[in-house]
Amino acid sequence: MDPCATNEPGRVRGSPAISELDLEMRILSLRNLTSNPVGWVNSMSWRDAGYRYSEYNFFLRQRFGGRIQRISIDGGFTCPNRDGSIGTGGCAFCNNRSFSPSRRMVRAGITEQIDRGMDRLRLRYRNCAGYIAYFQPATNTYAPVERLRWLYEEALRHPHIVGLAIGTRCDCVPPPVLHLLQEIAERTYLSVEYGLQTMHNPTLAWMNRGHNHDSFIDAVQRSRGLGFSIGAHVILGLPGESHDDMMATAREVGRLHLDAVKIHNLYVAKDTRLADAFAAGEVPLMSLAEYVTTLVDFLEWLPPDCVIERTFSNAPADYLLGPAWCLNRGAVRDAIRAEFERRETWQGRKFLG
Ligand code: SF4
Repeated sequence: MDPCATNEPGRVRGSPAISELDLEMRILSLRNLTSNPVGWVNSMSWRDAGYRYSEYNFFLRQRFGGRIQRISIDGGFTCPNRDGSIGTGGCAFCNNRSFSPSRRMVRAGITEQIDRGMDRLRLRYRNCAGYIAYFQPATNTYAPVERLRWLYEEALRHPHIVGLAIGTRCDCVPPPVLHLLQEIAERTYLSVEYGLQTMHNPTLAWMNRGHNHDSFIDAVQRSRGLGFSIGAHVILGLPGESHDDMMATAREVGRLHLDAVKIHNLYVAKDTRLADAFAAGEVPLMSLAEYVTTLVDFLEWLPPDCVIERTFSNAPADYLLGPAWCLNRGAVRDAIRAEFERRETWQGRKFLG
């Protein structure tokens, strides 16, 4: 399964396919929507629609008026935490080939990657209204601004692309890069995803992130009001973190009032420092039951308007060393849904504002 495909546990199946002409017309109108992160086409709330949390697919449908899928794009970036600028060896959990389908394929130009991604997604979804180009592997703002502009613009020129998503580090958005992102956000949908992982500095040091939490706060503050959605990537189950520690990270996401969050269970991919620690018996992994309980607790602390882009993750089977349960995506989704229903709870139930 393509991890960039948005999952949609509550979706209505069997919608009729739309014609190519309809599709072209809809994409033309979608591209003209600006990236006001809360610029909804339809104002129905996720709770009115029967969801337990602010599901990403629902958000995109409300925002764009139809099904939108993300396509993973490899812009050929490296990372300052690998090339020696900030560190070497990378984050303990990082294997970019395991994260991103685009880095497991033979490299191609941006347009060709989008075409290939659309071909794959059309096999699963006949009724996509458009696609978001997701610059995913490595640090996707780590290049001279003119090169960034060239890469992003090539993606935006594709007739089926309705917006961009850019994953990056919080210490890789100097003012000229933020200026470029603001400029793009003035004419199309843009979400920028910063790696938070945790708010706790000892854990950030353990995983060799090469930045502390103040650096994350600084990036969020400098990004505020520039017109793009500000998201964070969080990992639950990091070694040495208690349940209270993880809930403190949830409250920090709320305090910073991020627009979106992508939540992962800790999993171990091969060829990482985490894999070595796991083999040495130093890294306990959460069971499915533990993870689901923690995840729902975490979501209860988030603001209701924070979009949940992901609730769990995995690596392809040939990269994954554990836990095995995260490969069974249907079972994980069912367990999350059942936990919400058992507790009769929802995202934001404990959010203090
Ligand atoms: S910052 Fe991102 S790309 Fe760089 S080593 Fe860490 S996880 Fe990998």
